[in-house]
Amino acid sequence: MSWASSNFSDCGCLDEIATKLMEATPNDVSPISTEIPPGYPLFTPEHKSYMSKVLTPELYSLLKDRVTSSGFTIDQVIQTGVDTPHLGVGCVAVDEECFQVFKELYDPVIERWHNYKPSDSHKVDLDSTHLTPSDSLDPAYIKSTRVRAGRSLRGLPLPPGASRSDRREVERLIKTSLERMDGDLGGSYFPLGQMTPEQEDQMREDHFLFQKPGGGTLLSNAGAARDWPDARGIFHNHEKSFLVWVNEEDHMRVISMQNGADIIEVFDRWVRGVTAVRKSLEDGGYDFMHNEHLGYIGTCPSNLGTGLRASMFVRLLLLGEDPHKLDEICSSLGLQARGSAGEHSAAIGGWYDISNKARIGKSEVELVQTMIDGVGKLIEMEKDLELEHK
Ligand code: ADP
Ligand code: MG
Repeated sequence: MSWASSNFSDCGCLDEIATKLMEATPNDVSPISTEIPPGYPLFTPEHKSYMSKVLTPELYSLLKDRVTSSGFTIDQVIQTGVDTPHLGVGCVAVDEECFQVFKELYDPVIERWHNYKPSDSHKVDLDSTHLTPSDSLDPAYIKSTRVRAGRSLRGLPLPPGASRSDRREVERLIKTSLERMDGDLGGSYFPLGQMTPEQEDQMREDHFLFQKPGGGTLLSNAGAARDWPDARGIFHNHEKSFLVWVNEEDHMRVISMQNGADIIEVFDRWVRGVTAVRKSLEDGGYDFMHNEHLGYIGTCPSNLGTGLRASMFVRLLLLGEDPHKLDEICSSLGLQARGSAGEHSAAIGGWYDISNKARIGKSEVELVQTMIDGVGKLIEMEKDLELEHK
């Protein structure tokens, strides 16, 4: 019987896990004792995440009886990584307190994913005059520009842990705060459940709306897609250049976007938007989840810190011919390439969503600068390839 297909109800199962762990001893797992706690997950060779490497039986024993003040446990934190073996991080936060209560798991995962130590401090710089423009951002290669960041409300569980009533309360508070905003940021809230399928598809096709979480994804396996589409929705201004997603992966995703390559205009609007949302929530007695060390807190530890992803839709027909090579080049420039419809989608017509890869340990301005410089470099490389192909 293979490890992956072993029957968990079989009373020899824990022995089998112990034997496999001893045999496999993944590179970065500390020595393992044969004492396997009864609730220890069945990790297979397909489990790639840092969570699965860090969570030894000893660590699981240490954490298994701890609860946050809202009653959340380590099993809720790791469930998505157990059920979705290919994930890189493999754990989520269920509330703000998780990072403290299960520190022994999150600290090493965060350190490995972000190269960010428990003693490091979050950096902030929202001043676009500190950005250096690039002459290489040729508009012929760039369709649109977007900046987004996750924000969540202190005192309420994050989507993996939110009950139906918690989620509706998050939606009510955010809707009320957003509807207080005016000027070019003022707009309306559109609940997902009240959209027709055609409206929903159109919003998605236009790159304004989040994807519907499918089975086997981080969100569905974390329990964050329960009751879909209840209490999910999108706020946007008239121009659809300032948008807020509600109750997708985080309580909020605050987004600024527009056609073209004017990153300064997009970034400045994002800064004004996120500042105005915070002010409006504070007026109602609420604040974002955040602290000096972790910055802004959200569901996925990959989005801590600034939570900021600045992207451009860039046409890279030749560079994109070898997607693995493109991924390598992007990685060396501190970038990530996504397809034309968001994470894990394909690039249609050579159009890639190129964004900064890091989120924490660098300020917003530094991350946007990484995106500007990297996209400029990719366009230069694409032009060199065009010359070679002539
Ligand atoms: P995130 O979760 O980081 O907000 P996703 O990968 O889920 O991003 O993408 C959300 C949507 O935003 C998708 O439709 C994607 O194509 C779109 N998008 C991302 N970057 C840009 C951009 N620069 N211009 C236009 N749309 C974009
Ligand atoms: Mg996403």
